[in-house]
Amino acid sequence: MQLVVLPGDGIGPEIAAVTEAVLGAVSQRFQLGIATTHDIAGQASIARYGKAVRPELVEQVRAADGLLLGPTSTLDYAGEPGPSAVFRKALDLFANIRPARTYPGLPGRLGTMDLVVVRENTEGFYADRNMAHGNADILVTEDVAIAIRKITRQGSARIARAGFELAMRRARRHVTLVHKANVLTTSDGLFLAACREVAREFPEVTVEEIIVDAMVAHLVRNPARFDVIVTTNMFGDIISDLTAEMSGSLGMGGSLNAGARHAMAQAAHGSAPDIAGRDLANPMSLVLSAAQLLEWHGRASGQPRFGEAARAIEAAVAACLEAGERTHDVGGSQGTREVGAALVRRLAA
Ligand code: NAD
Repeated sequence: MQLVVLPGDGIGPEIAAVTEAVLGAVSQRFQLGIATTHDIAGQASIARYGKAVRPELVEQVRAADGLLLGPTSTLDYAGEPGPSAVFRKALDLFANIRPARTYPGLPGRLGTMDLVVVRENTEGFYADRNMAHGNADILVTEDVAIAIRKITRQGSARIARAGFELAMRRARRHVTLVHKANVLTTSDGLFLAACREVAREFPEVTVEEIIVDAMVAHLVRNPARFDVIVTTNMFGDIISDLTAEMSGSLGMGGSLNAGARHAMAQAAHGSAPDIAGRDLANPMSLVLSAAQLLEWHGRASGQPRFGEAARAIEAAVAACLEAGERTHDVGGSQGTREVGAALVRRLAA
């Protein structure tokens, strides 16, 4: 498996180093033959090349089997599209899959839960990727700004299909469609209509529809009732930070950006400048994202041992949490590197 590694900004290099060590351990144990190529994107690339992502880097990633991208400080790029947006758009990574679960050693802030947010990743309000040309975040006059939200039938149908297919691989087979069709009657009405049509192809999956504002209340009240949550871009971005934090910490938030042919592992959170460079970051978010990438690659290439490696990583994460080998954000006292060493030790055993 050819993997491109871009460590990113802030805590990115710290958690990417741990993740690479974990991938090295499973590559050896499960004979995965993972070969990594290192490059730069984000602040380091802006400093060296004047661009957050060079066009030739996009081509290099397109030719590889997967991308591991550390979090990036997009807010500081002064309008320059960040690496996440560039790769999501260029590689058409339309499905952002963000699991949030509790573990026996980490019971969660509001009770046990095991759910997955399936977020549309290329349309919606995300002005950096929802237009073929130009930017949909527009200054009309010095005092008037508008943003355009794009919802398409095809984009809605393909994220719904990703959600229903995922639900079919899970025990409960339940999908919750989250929307705001009571106010955004046309755009979210179209989203819902497209999802309902896809739902008819999956009679074994039970479906419910919940308006986004009520959804956050339901999540806090009883997260255990949810299985797969399918929603549009911005709702999914916000809900998935909530569910990651409810599961214990944003630092547990794994995330895969997947398209028909390409996939990018990238933690759900940002570059956490408040803790960067201090060995405080929880590496499990990016480690779990990498496990998702292995699972995806195994399924796409018909090689079950990649799925076995993914499950071994998840088991090592669970064992570390149970044994108290954790960072501060999840109630532990270990540093990023120490947790990384504990994960590698368990995977090498
Ligand atoms: P953030 O997600 O970086 O941090 C929010 C809080 O969570 C902070 O207190 C941080 O310390 C904590 N946190 C995040 N990851 C953690 C981890 N692994 N371990 C322990 N604690 C963790 O959000 P922010 O501060 O609003 O954004 C910082 C930068 O990241 C901004 O430039 C933003 O644009 C960017 N960002 C990038 C992505 C991405 O690369 N996909 C996503 C979100 C934000």
